[in-house]
Amino acid sequence: MPTYIVLLGPPGAGKGTQAQIVSKTLGLPHISSGDIFRENLKNQTSLGVQAKGYMDRGELVPDDLTISMIRDRLSRPDCASGALLDGFPRTVEQAKALAGMLEGFHGAVNAVPYIKVAEQVLIERLTGRWTCRAQGHVFHEMHNPPKLAGVCDHDGSELYQREDDKAETVINRITVYFAQTAPLIEFYQRGGQLLEIDGTQPIDRVTADLLAALAKKV
Ligand code: ADP
Ligand code: ADP
Repeated sequence: MPTYIVLLGPPGAGKGTQAQIVSKTLGLPHISSGDIFRENLKNQTSLGVQAKGYMDRGELVPDDLTISMIRDRLSRPDCASGALLDGFPRTVEQAKALAGMLEGFHGAVNAVPYIKVAEQVLIERLTGRWTCRAQGHVFHEMHNPPKLAGVCDHDGSELYQREDDKAETVINRITVYFAQTAPLIEFYQRGGQLLEIDGTQPIDRVTADLLAALAKKV
């Protein structure tokens, strides 16, 4: 049976950072909805064009577009043994659609680590975030700096600050998270899949807690 893990948490909680670290350990591909949208934007696909306005404003891209994009991605051969999902689902509608599509793949959401971080920490984390152009690796100018400023440690590509990591947009994204995504905490708690992780610790401690919690579940 395939294994599907959903990383839950507000923007800036550390989902992408942890996914990049544990994806290899778990042997699951890291599927980031934000990265797929940004790739589509870069290539000016019709999906990218449709998503752009929402992303610029820090709003969610409509469910129908997002769900069909993820269905396509999870249908590819590299997801045959499952996936580590980062940034999807973000609404109850998406979570229900995910459950339905995974049934079709003879699987289900096995575990949902919820990386918990206080709201006031998020702004500082996002406004100090530097992202790699090639593969979306993330750094922080203070908490996780690259070896060489402006250059990705992993693939040597340029690091940039995302437009939507500006303070005004970040505040909107956090508001959107509380209104539309936070209800998923209860949704997955009821399903017995939720694993609460303290995301305020240093990156390596969060990784250790995450792997220990997952070891009991998957
Ligand atoms: P998300 O994918 O949940 O939006 P990221 O993984 O991109 O979050 O992390 C947001 C920012 O915070 C990045 O700059 C990252 O380097 C930094 N970061 C991630 N985890 C931690 C941590 N445990 N402590 C301090 N900074 C962190
Ligand atoms: P973060 O690093 O803050 O968690 P992401 O890179 O995951 O942000 O997402 C960036 C933007 O892409 C979101 O603000 C939203 O516009 C869009 N997006 C990503 N995932 C989803 C989703 N599951 N549903 C709707 N919109 C999404």
